[in-house]
Amino acid sequence: MSLSYKNLANTYRPHDWESVVWQEYTKTILRNALTSGRVGTAYIFHGTRGTGKTTSARILAEWINCLSLRDGNPCHECTNCIAFENNALLDVIEIDAASNTGVDNIRDLIDSARFQPNQGKYKIYIIDEVHMLSKGAFNALLKILEEPPSHVKFILATTEIEKVPETIRSRTQRFDFRRIAQEDIADQLEKICTSEWIQVDRSALMLIARLAKWALRDAITLLEQNRVNDAITREHIMHTLSMVDEAILKNVIQGILSGDFGRMKDLLVKLSHTHIQVRIFVEELLFLLRDDLYSETDMTIWKQKVQIFDVLTEMYGKIKYTPDTFLLLEMTLLKLTAGGVNPSEQKVAPPPQAPERKPISEAPPEVQKPETFTETVSPEKKDFSFSQFVARIRERKPALALDLKETGFRVENTTLILISTSELRHGRLMTPEHRAIIQDTLREFVGGTWKYQTLLEIEGNTLKDAVDEVF
Ligand SMILES: [Zn+2]
Repeated sequence: MSLSYKNLANTYRPHDWESVVWQEYTKTILRNALTSGRVGTAYIFHGTRGTGKTTSARILAEWINCLSLRDGNPCHECTNCIAFENNALLDVIEIDAASNTGVDNIRDLIDSARFQPNQGKYKIYIIDEVHMLSKGAFNALLKILEEPPSHVKFILATTEIEKVPETIRSRTQRFDFRRIAQEDIADQLEKICTSEWIQVDRSALMLIARLAKWALRDAITLLEQNRVNDAITREHIMHTLSMVDEAILKNVIQGILSGDFGRMKDLLVKLSHTHIQVRIFVEELLFLLRDDLYSETDMTIWKQKVQIFDVLTEMYGKIKYTPDTFLLLEMTLLKLTAGGVNPSEQKVAPPPQAPERKPISEAPPEVQKPETFTETVSPEKKDFSFSQFVARIRERKPALALDLKETGFRVENTTLILISTSELRHGRLMTPEHRAIIQDTLREFVGGTWKYQTLLEIEGNTLKDAVDEVF
């Protein structure tokens, strides 16, 4: 029997906009710009791992150079498309900034950018992980962005937009790539399994999606790694990764909540024999706590669980710096059990409307919070003054206030709707930092039951921001 399966991640890499799923907002804006001949000089794609940034950059590059576009997609048949797909189109230059951080690499790039394209319509530079460039390299890049030759386009991609200098960012058109929902990843994996004749059940796919932290490419790789005789089972994945049953995870949380030191010690001994992977174990604990926080109705326990979540998240950040990760886990769980979660002794008291907050910023929007929470705090409705709201934001982030002044708004019941007419401004309103500031300020102004939503209105088209911010 041959075990030389084809590489699924490569096979199922999208080659046109239709097969790039979930980034509807980005796709619509890009398509509109391209089909109306308004191709920008420089784009920056921002998003976490595996959200399709590099794939989209490649499709965009192929599109820009395609000689006969078809329904807004590259034709895959003209000489430029064929050359590009065979990695032979010299005019598309991909640079991984993580391994080419120096100023010399960028100088080379600038030198080559001065020459006309060989066969394509444009020279296109795709710079992946652009935040990794050195200061000197950024300065060199800035120089060419300030006066770009007309035959050059840039597509920058980054997971950490805050590390990209403002001077660079302001010269690019920004697109935020959203994290793909667990269900959507599982759906995509299911399609792959069907066409590859792989037997699998949904629970295994959901587990893979979670382990891959919603990065599609990583999920497909995990799928491949766990393929045994054309079948994939949840048990096999759990066994390979030394994962423990949910019952044990629940036991750990109960052990902390009850402050039962003896029970926790027994549990830790058992865990040490299981050779768990601490990173995955803590991730699973955090996911379980997250689910708990949506269903827990006892406010005292709810607050304790939030605190456990916070302590474990902090610990998670230390894992990669710790030589003995199990020791770190042991100490954290023992400390938590020995009285670390008394809500009255919390260093930071939760705001009065704490249960109304979306407990975890990364929580998928489709999860609804249970009715019990909305009942415990009566909805506060105050007169809402947008100008005062913007004034308060100015104290915290003047640049954001400037953007908001240029932004339209309307209030529908308890939803503040921000309406932009500029893609750039709209993009800036949606950065995690700015979203947090808007949410915090709104909460301060009108209480925790309000939502806000961002809309982009361009030439009569309204693009609704996919995420309705609920907190
Ligand atoms: Zn073509």
